[in-house]
Amino acid sequence: MLSSRMPPQTHDQHNEHDQDPDFLARLGTSGEMSENYSPIPEGYQQGRTKFVVVLGTVMSGLGKGIFSSSLAKLLKDKGLTVAPIKLEGYLNIDSGTLNPYRHGEVFVLEDGLETDMDLGTYERILDQNLNRKNFLTAGQIYTEILERERRGDYLGRDVQMIPHVTGEVKRKLRELALTGNQGKQCDVVFVEVGGTAGDYENGFYIEALRELAFEEGPDSTCFVALTYIIEPSILGEQKSKAAQLGIKRLLEAGIQPSIIACRAKDPVTNQVMEKIGMFSNVPMNRIFSMHDRESIYTIPDAMRAARLDGQILSILDMHERVDPTHEDRARGEWKQFTQQLLATRRHKINIAITGKYAALRDAYASIDKALEHCATQLSADINAHWIDTTSIETSADADKALAGMHGIIVPGGFGLRGVEGKILCVEHARTNRLPYLGICLGFQVAVIEYARNVMGLPGAHSTEFEPDCAGAIIAELPEQKKLEGILGGTMRLGAQDVVLREGSLARHLYNGQASVRERFRHRYEVEPGYIDRLADAGLHFSGRHPDYPIMQVLELESTQHPYFVGAQFHPELTSRPLTPNPLFMGLVAAAIRTAEPEASLDDLPAQWKPNHSGDTANGHEFAQSPG
Ligand code: GLN
Repeated sequence: MLSSRMPPQTHDQHNEHDQDPDFLARLGTSGEMSENYSPIPEGYQQGRTKFVVVLGTVMSGLGKGIFSSSLAKLLKDKGLTVAPIKLEGYLNIDSGTLNPYRHGEVFVLEDGLETDMDLGTYERILDQNLNRKNFLTAGQIYTEILERERRGDYLGRDVQMIPHVTGEVKRKLRELALTGNQGKQCDVVFVEVGGTAGDYENGFYIEALRELAFEEGPDSTCFVALTYIIEPSILGEQKSKAAQLGIKRLLEAGIQPSIIACRAKDPVTNQVMEKIGMFSNVPMNRIFSMHDRESIYTIPDAMRAARLDGQILSILDMHERVDPTHEDRARGEWKQFTQQLLATRRHKINIAITGKYAALRDAYASIDKALEHCATQLSADINAHWIDTTSIETSADADKALAGMHGIIVPGGFGLRGVEGKILCVEHARTNRLPYLGICLGFQVAVIEYARNVMGLPGAHSTEFEPDCAGAIIAELPEQKKLEGILGGTMRLGAQDVVLREGSLARHLYNGQASVRERFRHRYEVEPGYIDRLADAGLHFSGRHPDYPIMQVLELESTQHPYFVGAQFHPELTSRPLTPNPLFMGLVAAAIRTAEPEASLDDLPAQWKPNHSGDTANGHEFAQSPG
């Protein structure tokens, strides 16, 4: 029976899952029921992991994820191991079914979980792969509890928000702490609570975190209130009342913030910060102005300059865990990146991006970021043109829409709308030697276009759009899905190996690697019966699944086109500031060469100067028929 509010230092009890005898024991048998349910995973060392909890007040959309990941990066740079988690109040199990119009893009993790775009921010800023333990929704928690209830695991006990739901949240946080450092217990768990304090749907998370802080003991948890300072134009000065009221909601919930971070357009005045501090018991040296910056990538440095990191270390009593050598190296690398980011760009290029959700950039957040990473490395000033292909009905329309472009990306998508316009854009790119990167659906439409216009299969299409088409060149292949062991879900999700053909452009771009891992989210793929015919006609599949005939990268020969590449996976999901995705780098480098054919491109690193016709080193031979 667990009745103590303060768990012992080390716990060796089992609390794992279903029918676990210890789980049952904790609940107590009839007659001696525990009022507290606060499971501790086996091997969990109390005090080893510290928790930083970031809560929003006043309003959402303040960049909690960016704040949280920047702070986590600062601590990671000091040699600490960090594990972020986003707690979502909604009842969906994952973000797979969410409309990108409402929620931004669906970000796919290595293990195939479809998550919120904030997880992309964490992966990029921390340069760390996340998994399903880093993302929790109310739907996941309730499902687990209700399944357990139906099995009778609660032994007659009424199942309650407190302690059972809050207990489950604490269990998940401690499980993450225990495995967050590649299977080892990590130094700091960063908890981002979705929504704002006072929302009905995240109340149980806030209560669970209050309990966690109490159970873990002093110096264990640092609550950060991210608030917003309004500056009404009619007054022309910053007002603190909304922030005060927002923080009061936290105090009412039993949470005393240790740090207050004030989001605002302009630097927050001392007067405003003093007022907020006085009403919320937080001293001035723990209140920070987090005003708008030129780039989100400069936030970690700004936080450090304001000594936010030092305050966190003091609150959590972990100064002695810092590794200064690690910090110097990490800071040096980041500094170089931010300097390049802010430097004047030498190459001006226009990149077209076709997209159904063109109106909403969040729907393509990772593509936007991947381009930014490449632009920084290659000193490119990229002007992105978002093109709605529903209005492109003829070749002339495509020519007009793509005039003046130096490269084009056809991103992933679902549904028929705008597909024919995308195919016309591919044709334009192929016949006008415009650098092309097709992603997922963009890979599939490149195959369709080639089959129709070069290989001589006018009825070529995807069965997603025309189930009974004459040339089902892109089709759903359930047999392969079974072979791959993907059951349950109908989509092929998550990281898979991609074997890159020797001598191919793809292999060259990936620095000669024979095999890479990339992330997928699709249902349809190239029908294997057409692979050889496509290759004979000049479209080569240079990236494949190691065991099954699943085509994963396509390209044209260097003599045919300066840069025509498609990926069945989503290269944007693995692009990071210091290590941009190679397929994006290839596109941007090719776009620079297109924009400045006469200019000396000596400043382009050798890696990104591939594919000049006649360049024997990078000849990309496809003499043998692909096996
Ligand atoms: N709709 C296509 C498929 O399901 C492409 C998916 C995508 O672009 N993510 O295969």
